[in-house]
Amino acid sequence: MDSAIDKKINILGKTLPELEELFLNLNQKPYRAKQALKWIHQRGISNFDQMTDFSKELRSLLNDSFYIKAPSISYEKLSDDGTKKWVLDVGEHDSIEMVLIPEGNRATLCVSSQVGCAINCSFCATGKQGFSRNLTASEIIGQVWLAANSFGIPRIGNDKNITNIVMMGMGEPLHNFNPVVSAMDIMLNENAYGLSKRKVTLSTSGLVPEINKLSKVSDVSLTISLHAPNDELRNILVPVNKKYPIQELLSSVKDYVEGCNDKRVTTFEYILIDRVNDTLELAKELADLLSQIKCKINLIPFNEFDESDYLQPSGNRVRKFKDYLVKRGYVTTIRSTRGDDIMAACGQLVGQVNDKTRRKERIQKAKIAAQSI
Ligand code: SAH
Ligand code: SF4
Repeated sequence: MDSAIDKKINILGKTLPELEELFLNLNQKPYRAKQALKWIHQRGISNFDQMTDFSKELRSLLNDSFYIKAPSISYEKLSDDGTKKWVLDVGEHDSIEMVLIPEGNRATLCVSSQVGCAINCSFCATGKQGFSRNLTASEIIGQVWLAANSFGIPRIGNDKNITNIVMMGMGEPLHNFNPVVSAMDIMLNENAYGLSKRKVTLSTSGLVPEINKLSKVSDVSLTISLHAPNDELRNILVPVNKKYPIQELLSSVKDYVEGCNDKRVTTFEYILIDRVNDTLELAKELADLLSQIKCKINLIPFNEFDESDYLQPSGNRVRKFKDYLVKRGYVTTIRSTRGDDIMAACGQLVGQVNDKTRRKERIQKAKIAAQSI
């Protein structure tokens, strides 16, 4: 990168207030920021010369000050069931993955927030690869920008749309707080993607202080990766539980939902791992535990991968677990495994995991990052 571009600012990840300030610094009216946001996110433009309602002088000023850059696509894979996975290059041999799950004209996009993850859940391929770095807001919203350009931006007159975004790709989103909040702000902004706060979901392993902090700045939907109904088991599956045990987590989730001021229901994710957390005793314990909170339960049969000895339970075991929860009055779904033929299913996203030389370094970084959680 030459020094001229070094001084330029990538405005892909700038929120409306941030853009307004940047435009003001260039002695431009703030409404220009709204126009720019529409060009970038609703029309998918990365070249200021295409912004035809800006004067030639303004376009040249923008060219001198800013640039618009998403991660570059290394390759794409299309699953037999229509699920599409992109591997994106974010520099320095780091790569991330994002997944688009279409259903007719609608689609859910699964977005990454970090390269790797420091939480190191015992069942997760992303966790096993260690942690490299946080993504910038431009790299997070850049995934939406790329996918929207390929599938359809939620804009007027489009018959194909990204209708839901889930922060469930690689990484722990609350461990990368500010860039994730900025990117979600752009997802919701009516001049950008205009999604409703119910259609943008943040999934977390349960960082309690950050959930509390999030409730002050956002009211997107929250999904909690619970995976166990007691601390003893959850400490093993989701190690961050040792720091923020279940009751503390549930109380912060209740506060979050109350702050949303609508009839919001929290989703609890529960991976079913054969003989580890899928017994009927644990289903009962789970039902008892969650009776204190209005919620849905999403069961995810464990997706197997090479580096893990855990196994996926039989369909019969999964059904029994589900039936018990339904009998206890819980809305319970089993997440269908989409895209597993291209390693795009939950927990199979690994980005640059095969780069053995950097693996040790990433695991070391994960240990350091985990100490700060
Ligand atoms: N770090 C956040 C978001 C990313 S993980 C979190 O943990 O919530 C996204 C989802 O995939 C989580 O629900 C996680 O528990 C699940 N997941 C991880 N590994 C999996 C695996 N091997 N099989 C099935 N689901 C998995
Ligand atoms: Fe990180 Fe989520 Fe994987 Fe746990 S499940 S290691 S928090 S990405």
